[in-house]
Amino acid sequence: MCIEWAGEQDWDRIKGYAKEHGSEVLLGVHSVHVDEKWKVTSVLSIASYNDNVEMVKLTLEAGFDNKEAMYLAAQTSMKNSDNSTILRLLLEHGLDPNIDLQVEGLVEGIYNLLMSAAAAGHIDHAIALLDHGANVNKTMVRPDGHVVSPLAFTICFGGHDYFRLFLTRGAIPTTSDVLYVFTLCLKACKGEDPRLSRDVAIQIFATFLHLGKPDSDVVRDKFNLAPPSYHDPTIANITKHYLQGRPFCCFVCEALTAASRSKLHMCPCRNVAYCSKDCQVKHWKEHKVQCTGPLNERGESEAMVKKRSKTGKGVAAGEADVGVAEGAVAEGAGATGKNGKKGKKGRGKKK
Ligand SMILES: [Zn+2]
Ligand SMILES: [Zn+2]
Repeated sequence: MCIEWAGEQDWDRIKGYAKEHGSEVLLGVHSVHVDEKWKVTSVLSIASYNDNVEMVKLTLEAGFDNKEAMYLAAQTSMKNSDNSTILRLLLEHGLDPNIDLQVEGLVEGIYNLLMSAAAAGHIDHAIALLDHGANVNKTMVRPDGHVVSPLAFTICFGGHDYFRLFLTRGAIPTTSDVLYVFTLCLKACKGEDPRLSRDVAIQIFATFLHLGKPDSDVVRDKFNLAPPSYHDPTIANITKHYLQGRPFCCFVCEALTAASRSKLHMCPCRNVAYCSKDCQVKHWKEHKVQCTGPLNERGESEAMVKKRSKTGKGVAAGEADVGVAEGAVAEGAGATGKNGKKGKKGRGKKK
């Protein structure tokens, strides 16, 4: 009966029943039913399936804590709901975001919750899991022996937003992630991956290098591994810039072009580039400590000149107003422009 109610919204009846018989009657829902595979049928999972928040709450508040059922409810909810209300309720009531039923032998070949969130396509779910301590670097072993990381998993689903989220939440790319990103992005640029467009692949690639900061030797190695016919000009350009330590995307949002033009705006120090004044302002507080200010015609910063001549005075570069940097953008823009729109058009021929 309780299971039937899980799909209903007749709260007066359900709550009246629970009140009359004690809320633990809802624990009857516990009667975990394991079918021929591994599914656990419970009020919780059915209520999650029906996106029935009230019933989920009632069940959890009655003390329901079967971990398989909670895990399944979380999986179901991620598939069926575009908000994280139920998932958050489960987490608040003890669902372990790193639960590994595979290791415990209860579930075979299933991905962890974070991976499932990436597959289901609602970023809210991944944020809820991470907020509750999900380990963004927790890998899973596939039945074929392949080790899959949540980061690599997001690329399969073309989810740049997930990819970025995982990197900003501390995902550390493994060597096989680097190979995976190269392979997937280069294939996508060739039009060989129906799930990933060239634009998204390039954006994922830029974000990967900028935020993931993979080891340069590994990057060089993996790039050279790809057959030359797969060397997409934009990917090649971004890789070259990365290996040379030059900016190739907006420091703040990884955009490859400015909103109003094809070239990014370079900070006069030429170490960072931005897509817009907004992004530059956002980053200025952090960057002003490192910013060496504009370079002279010999490519030297003010500090370098000062050191050389020991006579330099004037404003310390770090104190320059953001407006100054913006004003000086035009001359510097060429450097980033080459990996920006030009590369995107498939040429990147500017030397
Ligand atoms: Zn930006
Ligand atoms: Zn600067």
